[in-house]
Amino acid sequence: MAQDLMKKLTLLGAAAKFDASCASSGGGRAGRKGQLGNAHMAGICHTWAADGRCVSLLKVLMSNACQYDCAYCQNRRSADTERATFTPEELSGLVIEFYRRNYIEGLFLSSGVCRSPDYTMELMVRTLEILRQTYRFGGYIHVKVIPGASTELVDAVGLLADRVSVNIELPSRASLSLLAPQKTPEKIFRPMDYIRRAQTMNLEDRRHFAHAPLFAPAGQSTQMIVGATGDTDLTILRLSQGLYRKYRMKRIYFSAYIPVGTHAALPPGGSQVPLLREHRLYQADWLMRFYDFTPDELLSDAEPLLDSALDPKCAWALRHPEQFPIEVNSAPYETLLRVPGVGVVSARRIVAARRQCVLRLEDLRRLGVVMKRARYFLTARGAFGGNMLPGSPFLRDALAERPDDGQLSLFAPPPSPGPALPPAADKPAAPTAPRPAVGAGAGKPLLGPPHDLVV
Ligand code: SF4
Repeated sequence: MAQDLMKKLTLLGAAAKFDASCASSGGGRAGRKGQLGNAHMAGICHTWAADGRCVSLLKVLMSNACQYDCAYCQNRRSADTERATFTPEELSGLVIEFYRRNYIEGLFLSSGVCRSPDYTMELMVRTLEILRQTYRFGGYIHVKVIPGASTELVDAVGLLADRVSVNIELPSRASLSLLAPQKTPEKIFRPMDYIRRAQTMNLEDRRHFAHAPLFAPAGQSTQMIVGATGDTDLTILRLSQGLYRKYRMKRIYFSAYIPVGTHAALPPGGSQVPLLREHRLYQADWLMRFYDFTPDELLSDAEPLLDSALDPKCAWALRHPEQFPIEVNSAPYETLLRVPGVGVVSARRIVAARRQCVLRLEDLRRLGVVMKRARYFLTARGAFGGNMLPGSPFLRDALAERPDDGQLSLFAPPPSPGPALPPAADKPAAPTAPRPAVGAGAGKPLLGPPHDLVV
């Protein structure tokens, strides 16, 4: 590869790593003789396609010569950093060379605002046209739309890319005008709205014409920086809910602010926002998307920040002891979903299994329920497995996650078994009775091994 092109790739791959929509770029392990694999610095990352496959992408900027001056960004106009811009021919050639070598399966393309939003988008559209039409590249492409670009160019990108996204960046108008004065909510929401309407029309077209070209078939997403301003988690979650509802976002990515600027409004002392805050927001976002929680159930104006020691569902359950314990054999599906330790898959398994038999506490673990949390909030055949009731003042301590617990190593010796659970103290367990066997499956294991995404 020509040295000049290699330099551009290094610069623009590194500059793209702060975009959270593809989370795993920036590894510094180069390929070595006699070894397999190469996690090169210049941004090869992984993401999940619409069908759930994990694909490796070349994550890169078209240009970092940005005309805007967003205080939180290392590519801002006032930053003293080396600049580079790909030509569409250079970038498309690189993608194809990498694809042929099996380094990547697709492209994640973003950019600074080079000259103007339209000029930048034209470069990106041209790159995609060369890839799709000249090279007939059919791999995954995710493109960031530049706020303020004309709808014709957004339309052209939507017809060439699999996923498109417009970064919202900051969760309030005041924060945007403070830190990203050249961006306005209107410039960001207009392309989002256009993409949503174009997708709806595209669905309609494809009902009548099976070969009508797809428009952004993997949907649209956005990204929000967390902690660069004083916006609360409640503000962020309310905005996220609005974005999911109004623009049918596939995903909203949260990115904890990384100190790169010296603007007076940025967090003092170059302090980085704890990644735990980003993690809790993802948990809350998951609860809104799959468990039907609303931001105002998870937080309130009096308590607008997520509890760092508890996952948001546990925190909610502790605030509502009057709703627990619930009986797993009779609670509606929607109520099961609200129990900490019960996920979407395990709630469905419970509903399916209880048609066949009356469930006991011992069955729940096999159905994927995380009993470490759930035992305080449910009963099975009247039996309660916790050693304190949901209203107990000590329960918060029992459920709190300790940051120094760390992640277990696959190679560490197994932890010694803890002390046996004390018998149910607040509510005596019902005497065990023979289990009624119903149907042909009686006596067989209820379902396979536990596998669930539990919040
Ligand atoms: S528009 Fe703002 S966030 Fe985007 S590259 Fe330019 S300075 Fe950075």
